[in-house]
Amino acid sequence: MRVADSLDRPLRALRVSVTDRCNFRCPYCMPRERCADQHPFLDRGQVLSFEEIERLVRVFVGLGVEKVRLTGGEPLLRHDLPSLVRRLRTIQGLRELTLTTNGVLLDDLAKPLRTAGLDRLTVSLDSLDPARFASLSDSQIPVERVLAGIEAARAAGFSPIKLNCVVQRGQNEAEILALADFAREQDHSLRFIEFMDVGTGNGWQLDRVVPAAEVARVLASRWPLEPVRRDCPNCVAQHWRYLDGHGEVGLIASITEPFCQGCDRARLSAKGTLYTCLFASEGLDLKTFLRTGASDTDLKAMVESRWRRREDRYSECRTNATTPRPKVEMFQMGG
Ligand code: SAM
Ligand code: SF4
Ligand code: SF4
Repeated sequence: MRVADSLDRPLRALRVSVTDRCNFRCPYCMPRERCADQHPFLDRGQVLSFEEIERLVRVFVGLGVEKVRLTGGEPLLRHDLPSLVRRLRTIQGLRELTLTTNGVLLDDLAKPLRTAGLDRLTVSLDSLDPARFASLSDSQIPVERVLAGIEAARAAGFSPIKLNCVVQRGQNEAEILALADFAREQDHSLRFIEFMDVGTGNGWQLDRVVPAAEVARVLASRWPLEPVRRDCPNCVAQHWRYLDGHGEVGLIASITEPFCQGCDRARLSAKGTLYTCLFASEGLDLKTFLRTGASDTDLKAMVESRWRRREDRYSECRTNATTPRPKVEMFQMGG
């Protein structure tokens, strides 16, 4: 079944947040002053159970979703995550099941996740420098833990592993070449992401964004590149190929070259709210319907009607006035 929104964009991808908790406090996502350890995170009863997640994902797949990405918060903090992967793997029509993580717990979990049927892994890595990594994650957990996690993922059979790096002016822009070098040498697939004005508390300012075009220039100054044309209207990344045969690099220009036209992605938060845009200020509370006896047919009708009314194109309309607008935080919605 194909459901299209008011701009004729199909519903094809779903991000499922399994927790709003995290072992990092990256200032661009969960700044510690707003998100202390005593922050009122969701308690167990508020979070969707694996059974509820599976049921909702089946409903979404019935509406055309082919790709599901598990996320958070930090998804590996959710107890027994491989058993959720096993459940989701049984859903017919789900073509791709992936996960985004900060990598800290991969050492233990990469193998069980692979065995459970996870297709691909993305690990966030903003710096290789120990001091900068500590400041960008605002944590005591050393970057070596993440690097060990990436190795464990490779040993478990994930290949290539995707790496996400958010570039911030004045923070890690000087590491673009070092990160690219690491990815090239290790055969990882690296994507540089523009710093976004998600939520309300991360102090985003346009002058802290390093445009993707600038990242491309820095990379090309060391390794000549050519753009890769993909017949993929819903691709968010621009792909570039290294002419020396060392693979590709992706650039996600959410700020300077928005891609709302091709946006086919919904988000289901850990507490069961459906959001149709990363910059949304409100969503549809599916959990209450689910827990008060709604049938699968009812749930499907609710999601379908919400998607059909969807008009979101925040990034194409971003101005100084939209940035301070109340928005749900990324760790609460599912990044
Ligand atoms: N905790 C996991 C992780 O960090 O990979 C998954 C959730 S995190 C919210 C998902 C992705 O969002 C990460 O790659 C992170 O770097 C990115 N992210 C968070 N805040 C961002 C921001 N303000 N701008 C751009 N990307 C951001
Ligand atoms: Fe945690 Fe990921 Fe947000 Fe960093 S980006 S605070 S690792 S959820
Ligand atoms: Fe999709 Fe919203 Fe991002 Fe546009 S701003 S690409 S509609 S999530």
